[in-house]
Amino acid sequence: MSRGEHRARKRFGQNFLHDQDVIRRILAAISPAPGERIIEIGPGQEALTAPLAASGADLGVVEIDRDLAARLRARRPELEVIEADALDTDFTALAGGRPYRIVGNLPYNISTPLLFHLLAQDPPPVDMHFMLQKEVVDRITAEPGGGDWGRLGIMCRNRAEAEFLFTVPADAFEPRPKVESAVVRLRPRTEPLVPGDLAEPFDRLVRQAFSQRRKTLRNSLRALLPAEAIAAAGIDPGLRPERLDLPGFLALARALRYDGG
Ligand code: SAM
Repeated sequence: MSRGEHRARKRFGQNFLHDQDVIRRILAAISPAPGERIIEIGPGQEALTAPLAASGADLGVVEIDRDLAARLRARRPELEVIEADALDTDFTALAGGRPYRIVGNLPYNISTPLLFHLLAQDPPPVDMHFMLQKEVVDRITAEPGGGDWGRLGIMCRNRAEAEFLFTVPADAFEPRPKVESAVVRLRPRTEPLVPGDLAEPFDRLVRQAFSQRRKTLRNSLRALLPAEAIAAAGIDPGLRPERLDLPGFLALARALRYDGG
C-alpha cells in the first residue's frame, strides 16, 4: 500500500507518522514481547502496526475508517482487524480475559473522551502508550501549581500514573498537523485513588472549580461548599483551584458527601 493511495480524512484525525526514528522510539518505549495481547487504536497505514506485528505480539487493531480497515485486511490476512469506533469499543472484552496493553497514535479530535473511556475499562489495561497533542500530554502529566493542572490531569491521575516520554515535531507526520505532539505512558492503578462512594462529588467539585479557574475556591465552589466547610476540610478557601492537589480535592469531596457542605 503506497502512502499516496489514501487521502487523509480530516474528520478521522488522520495524520500519518512517517518519521522512522520516531517510530523506533515509540516501539522502544512500548517494548512489545511475543505473545503479549496488544490492542492498537487507529492503525491507519501501519506505521506502528507493522513493527508491532513483527514483534510477535498478539495484536488486534481498531480502525474506524472502512477503507483503511479493508486495506489492512487485504495486506495482513492474519491480523485481527476490528472495524469500529474506539469510543464504543469494549476493550476488556477484546482482551479476552488476558492482561492487555493499548497503544495508538490517537486521533486528536477525540482524545479526551477516548482517554476517559479507556480509563473506565474494567479491568484496565496493564499500560497505554499514546501519541497525543503535546498540550494534552502536558495537562495529563502536570503537577499542581501551574496552568496545565486541571480536570483532565486530575481525572487521569486518579486512575493512572502518567509519564511524559518525548515530544514529536509536526513534520514527523503527513499531512503535517498544526500542533506539536508528544508520547505519554499511562499505567492504570489497580484501584482509583478516589474511592467509589466519592467519585461523583469529586467529579462535581473538580468540574466546578476549574470551570472558573481564575476564581478562588471560596468563590467558585460557593454553590457547593461554604468557605467554612472548605476550611474545616483543611483547605485554604483563598486558593485558586490550580494550587490544589488531588488529595485536597478528595478532602473536599468527603466534606461535600458526608458533612453536608
Ligand atoms: N497509527 C497511524 C500512524 O501512526 O500513522 C495513524 C494515526 S492517525 C493520527 C489516527 C488513526 O485513527 C487513523 O487511522 C484514523 O482513521 C483512526 N481513527 C480515527 N477516529 C477513530 C475512532 N473513533 N476509532 C478508531 N479509529 C479511529
